[in-house]
Amino acid sequence: LVASVGNLNFDVYLKVGELPGVDENVEAFDLYTGGGGSAANFAVAVARLGLGARFIGAVGEDPLGEMALRELREEGVDISHVKRVPSARSGVVVVLVHLDGSKRMLSYRGANLGLSPSDLTVEKFAGVRHIHLATGRVEIIARAREIAREVGATVSIDGGTALAKKGLDVVKSVAEGVDVIFMNRAEARLLTGSSDKSAVKKLAEELKARELVVTLGPEGAVAYDGARLLQVDAFRVDAVDTTGAGDAFAAAYIAMFLQGRDIYERLLFANAAAAIKVTRPGARSSPRRWEVVAFLES
Ligand code: ADP
Repeated sequence: LVASVGNLNFDVYLKVGELPGVDENVEAFDLYTGGGGSAANFAVAVARLGLGARFIGAVGEDPLGEMALRELREEGVDISHVKRVPSARSGVVVVLVHLDGSKRMLSYRGANLGLSPSDLTVEKFAGVRHIHLATGRVEIIARAREIAREVGATVSIDGGTALAKKGLDVVKSVAEGVDVIFMNRAEARLLTGSSDKSAVKKLAEELKARELVVTLGPEGAVAYDGARLLQVDAFRVDAVDTTGAGDAFAAAYIAMFLQGRDIYERLLFANAAAAIKVTRPGARSSPRRWEVVAFLES
């Protein structure tokens, strides 16, 4: 069983060919809606790869929250420990998807902020062998790491821009000793000014994480585990929507990590899972295990 801790959102995607300026109105030519939030996306991606998944987070008592929860349940994710925050609105993200596949997001965190460290209790993590922290909230990460020690679970962190913006010292304080830390190129650049191979190795050593993985969008990903520094190129696909690519990547990487696969196999499998995801719209379009296997064999 894998638990993921962090945000659950209701995403509204608008497909646009240009971005509005002040007082301007741009017409979107496509609309789709669906569940999002990095931690929830991760839980769905892990479930689709055939692992047990539990989501730990918070929603408001509103229709959007109910819809978001129903989607998770339908994906087979355990939502029995999700907190309901009565007076808050559930998290909503508006995603502007450009024709070129790039995206811009406007987030309202709402009820997600109602999750507090004291909500994280050992009972909620019973039977969990891995905890994925898709949050930039340092106090949540710290509490979850305490629990991981108590229940004997391994830990990964994908703190996103929210964590990287807090600076190298804060990232160091949460990353030391963690099994895997994920970040994208922009976050690595925020912390070190660079995202090339040697910078990733240097950053990994500074963070004292067991393993650092930096995703490079259409250029693939690079990982360092204290011994091996490896880079893989992205698979060539027609990207239509990269929302959730990092979550699909992290879920597939952790699935291989938990199977005891080596760093090259982890990178390759994750790279393939994320490549499939970017060919499909929405944050929850990550592949099932057989799809990744078939993709790698083709
Ligand atoms: P995030 O979504 O967190 O910003 P990235 O943009 O770095 O993360 O993408 C995560 C992973 O998704 C990449 O490491 C790569 O495997 C895959 N990916 C992203 N964009 C593309 C693309 N255009 N073509 C193929 N794979 C991609």
